[in-house]
This record gives sequence, structure tokens and C-alpha cells, in this order.
Amino acid sequence: MSIKDKAYKILKKLKNIYKNPKTELNYSTPFELLVATILSAQCTDKRVNTVTIELFKKYKNVYDFAKANQKDIEKEIKSCGFFHNKAKSIIETSKRIVDFYNGQVPDEMEELLTLRGVARKTANIILSSCFDKAQGIAVDTHVKRLSKRFCFTKSENPDLIEKDLMNIFDRKDWNSINYLLVNYGRYVCKAINPRCDFCELHEYCCHFKEKNKKELKHIFGIEKKIDNKIFITIKFAQSLDGKIATKSYESKWISNEKCLEFAHKLRSENDAILVGINTVIHDDPILNVRFFQKNKKSPIRIILDGNLKIPKNSKIVKTSKIIKTLIFCNVNILKKNEIGTLKKINELKKNKIKIIGIKTCKKNNALDLNEVLNYLYKKLRIKTLLVEGGGEIITNFYKKFLFDKIFVIINPIFIGNDGISAIKNLNIDKIEIAKGKKLKLIGVKNFDDNFIFELSK
Ligand code: SF4
Repeated sequence: MSIKDKAYKILKKLKNIYKNPKTELNYSTPFELLVATILSAQCTDKRVNTVTIELFKKYKNVYDFAKANQKDIEKEIKSCGFFHNKAKSIIETSKRIVDFYNGQVPDEMEELLTLRGVARKTANIILSSCFDKAQGIAVDTHVKRLSKRFCFTKSENPDLIEKDLMNIFDRKDWNSINYLLVNYGRYVCKAINPRCDFCELHEYCCHFKEKNKKELKHIFGIEKKIDNKIFITIKFAQSLDGKIATKSYESKWISNEKCLEFAHKLRSENDAILVGINTVIHDDPILNVRFFQKNKKSPIRIILDGNLKIPKNSKIVKTSKIIKTLIFCNVNILKKNEIGTLKKINELKKNKIKIIGIKTCKKNNALDLNEVLNYLYKKLRIKTLLVEGGGEIITNFYKKFLFDKIFVIINPIFIGNDGISAIKNLNIDKIEIAKGKKLKLIGVKNFDDNFIFELSK
């Protein structure tokens, strides 16, 4: 998504939240807004509004302020902070407006900038609120913070931030953008403890993504790479009643967006991702990495496909020229030299897919996982492997205790007995046997309303 597309998605959401964005400073003339804006530097609008009630009663217009005694003004505005400088600015600004602008606040940026205490931020507020002129975007502390959190800018300098914003937003939106960001910064995206849990904009927020990444690291720790074998992580998402898909094999979006990000983070940390052929047939995944892939190659994709059933039009095949892909199949079907199989092998090879024939287990005719792992470790130097499913594959890895870590993502929904189970038949008839294989619970994390259980042997 381009920065402009992102900016306009944010703008649309903010416009839905704040129907009539405007300054919260109270004023009845451009001059009063000018005074209030000078007072609002490093001070809350609420405090300024309290102070200006009395101030504007005593000093009715620009002429009164131009004649005022500085000490008297200082007393009136003391609670706004920096009262000495602010009083001086208000009086000098008033004198200049009387002397040079006939008692009227000017409506041009260059002229406003000649007034003491008026920089681009104040000038933009006056121009947009009083004269409906869009000559820039007022950058205050909220606009600055949010612009950085949304990655609209990298700068700390308000003038440069303003330029970045003016490049992103169309002129017709310059006047509203300040008030929308200020409101959001004041009530939701606060400087300290932003209310990210309630935020409707986190999908566009760089700060949130960064924070989330750190949080995940903190909760789950960084995977330890073991030198003499492959570090195997199993990950699957299931319903509360242990189903990874409905009876029609629908499994997409079983977990929420945050868990999806977590899953992609896991992928990015592994050398290879392994799935069985049923996952390719029913889910048609790409098995790539989103969100966390910076200057890094995609993990190698490993498909266990005993009978070479992989569809030619699957996304795996379509993307195999750009993402390295290996298929392990039953060595016997390669030996048979059947025309149909040879044709398929040729097509897969044309798509740069490597096919490796291996033995199957006598007991269940499944591909020998130890042979697969040996190949990955010895021939491809794979050190970390993420096993993503489906149920048969997960169960086979679990039964052989071929894993170092398991992440189970649980969405508190029920799919029912006719759904597809995450763990298949284990032939356990006694609780004691199950307890003997009990996993260690390392951590549980609540991601919105989904839970991630981290387990080890
Ligand atoms: S996710 Fe948090 S930091 Fe990001 S915009 Fe929302 S409230 Fe602000």
C-alpha cells in the first residue's frame, strides 16, 4: 500500500470518528484565537479556555491589549506557563496589528509570521479556522507524534514534518488533517500509554507493529538454534473444540489478524516451512512471509506429497520460480516410470520444484519423517523448521516427538464433531498415557480474543 493510500484510509476513518473537526480553543474573533493560540504553547486547551474567559472580559479587543501593561497580563495568564514571554508576545503582536494592519489580524502566511510569538503552526491555525485558507498544515505535538507513528515522516523538525504531510495529503484536506490528528492524539493515541487496544488504526501504525514485534520477542523469547539437529516448531490454529477446519475443509481466518501476524513472524524466523499435500489441496496457501520480511529470503517450502498429487495450478506451483520449493514423495512412484507421473515431474521441474523420493513407513505408509529431516539438515543445511499442518502431518510429528516447540492458537469458537481435528488418532486409551506425554506450558498470550499457547516437550 502506498503511503498516500494509507494516509487516505486513515483520514477516512478519522473523518468517520470526528464529524466536525475544529479547534477546541474558545474564541469569537480572529484576534481572540490568535491570543488563545499563543497561550496554548506547552499548555492544554482546557486551561487556556479557563484563562481567556477573564482575560477577554478585561481586554476587549486588540487596542486594549496593545495598551496593556505587561505585568498585568502576566498575572492574568500565569497558569498557562511561560507567562513572561507569552505576555510580551501578546502585547507586541497587538501593537503590530494596530500599527501595520489597521487593527485586523492579517490573512496571509508571510504577514502572520512577522508577528511575535507566531510561527507556522499558529499561522496555519488562524488561516484555516478564521479565513478558511489552506496554506499549510499546523504541526503541534500531537500531529508530530502521530505523523511519526504512522510513518508519514522520519523528521523531528515541525517544518519538515509539515512539508512531508503537504506532500502526502491533497490541499483540500490540509485544514482538517490537523484537527483530526490532534483529536485522535489527545484521546486515543496519547503520548504515554496510547490506547492501542481500542484503536481502529493499528493496521496502519508503524509504532504498533514495532511494539508488537518486541512484545512477541519478550513473551516467547527468540528461538534458540540447535547446532546438531533441526529445531522444529509446530504451529496450528484451532477452535476451542480442537478443529483446524470445518467439514468442508475451510480453515482460512480461523484465527484473528494479530495471530496471523504472529504466524508470519514465526515463518520469518525459520529456514523452512513444511506442510502436507492436503493443506496445499484444501487451503491453497502460498506459504510466504508478510509483515516481517526485511531484506530476507523467504523460507524454503517443503511439501510432503507421497503420490505427487500437487495441483499444477496451485499457488505453490505458480510461485515456485520465486520461492524455493521441495516436494518429498514416495520413492516407489518415481521408480515406476509411469508416463503420467513422468509428465508431472517434468512440469514441476520446469517450475523449478525439486522432487525427492524417499521411503515410506511400513506401518502407515506415510513418508519417513526422519528421512525427510535428515535430507533437510544434511543436504540443505536447514537448522529451523516450521511445521504448519495439516492434521495428519502435525499428528505424525507429535507421535514421533519430533518437535522442540508447539504453538497452538485458539480461537474461542466451536466447529463441532464434523470439523477436521488438529490431532488425529493417538490410540490413547488411558489418561495416564496422555499424562505421560504432557507438554510443558511456557506461556499463554491473549491476542485480542484469541490465545496463543507456547508449549515444549
Ligand atoms: S495503534 Fe496505538 S500507537 Fe498506533 S495509532 Fe493506534 S493508538 Fe496510536
